[in-house]
Amino acid sequence: MSRVFNFCAGPAALPESVLQQAQTDLIDWQGRGLSIMEMSHRSDEIVSIANAAEASLRRLMGIPENYAVLFLQGGASQQFAAVTLNLATSDTPVEYVNTGQWSKKAISEAKRFAQVKVVASSEDQNFSYVPEHSVWDRADGAAYLHICPNETIGGVAFAELPRGDVPIVADMSSMILSGPLNVSDYGVIYAGAQKNIGPAGLTVVIVDRKLLGRASAQCPAMLNWQIAAENDSMYNTPPTFAIYLAGLVFEWLEQLGGLDAMASINQRKADKLYAYIDQSGFYANPVAVPNRSLMNVPFTLANAELDKAFLQGADDARLLNLKGHRSVGGMRASIYNAVPEAAVDALIDYMRDFASQHS
Ligand SMILES: *Cc1c(COP(=O)(O)O)cnc(C)c1O
Repeated sequence: MSRVFNFCAGPAALPESVLQQAQTDLIDWQGRGLSIMEMSHRSDEIVSIANAAEASLRRLMGIPENYAVLFLQGGASQQFAAVTLNLATSDTPVEYVNTGQWSKKAISEAKRFAQVKVVASSEDQNFSYVPEHSVWDRADGAAYLHICPNETIGGVAFAELPRGDVPIVADMSSMILSGPLNVSDYGVIYAGAQKNIGPAGLTVVIVDRKLLGRASAQCPAMLNWQIAAENDSMYNTPPTFAIYLAGLVFEWLEQLGGLDAMASINQRKADKLYAYIDQSGFYANPVAVPNRSLMNVPFTLANAELDKAFLQGADDARLLNLKGHRSVGGMRASIYNAVPEAAVDALIDYMRDFASQHS
């Protein structure tokens, strides 16, 4: 069996060594005679797996003790509502920066529960850049400022982080663990697991404990971060297998040298791909250069009528899931942590061959 190179935006590639470990553990976990999926979430085994996963994530990201780490379900999309229900009050506005399709969804969900102010938007140019922070129309006293530092669909990333006293809430679904960051700069970080953490079904929330206890009375228990924190993410049955697999990914990252090491690998992968696109004269990336994502690289072909042939040829070369999102068109290569540099090299080789055959 040989595995393909998988450029899927999510659920995305997982490290092969992690899948092999899971295969070994599947039928009989550490000689217990049963699998992870068949154990009580209250068992010593699962509690220790969850604790180890949390500890590993804390080491990787340098998460301070005054932040709670929650392992939840419902995806990042459920957090769009949870953020507002946990943090907004009736008399303070909540602020959003609108830089793409995921920001837009977060905004429309927040509008159900709070007075939303969009402080800046790049929709005027099809979300191809992040507006200069100096033009953001922010006010003191907002309950929080929400950003999506890496817009997965547009391939647009923040070059710098906003500052100020208002807690920053960041949807990091497609860039968490791609490099080091300072957790204390954020009030809340959340991410669906299926891009850079593990399998679908797990959602990670990292929240400054001083923001707990602010949830509105209408906030359902299942969305209430304080309840989750008080119950060690086991208020109800957590996604035990997904937590176990995420724990293996965290271990894999630690063995590779942590997030500093990942950042340089990711930078090298992205630099090569953008450099090739820019000099090809055949492919183009629409994003403002300082805002180009290291994780999601959209590109168009010189002639959109060639898209189908490009995708077919890519499939034949075992380069999968390169079709772009309909709002951007063309292609998108998602090159998360688990996508090896060899995959990027193979993609560039294929792109070069395809361009020379069609130009
Ligand atoms: C994938 C993604 C989402 C949606 O995640 P779900 O887990 O499917 O709800 C939200 N935000 C960003 C930035 C994403 O990349």
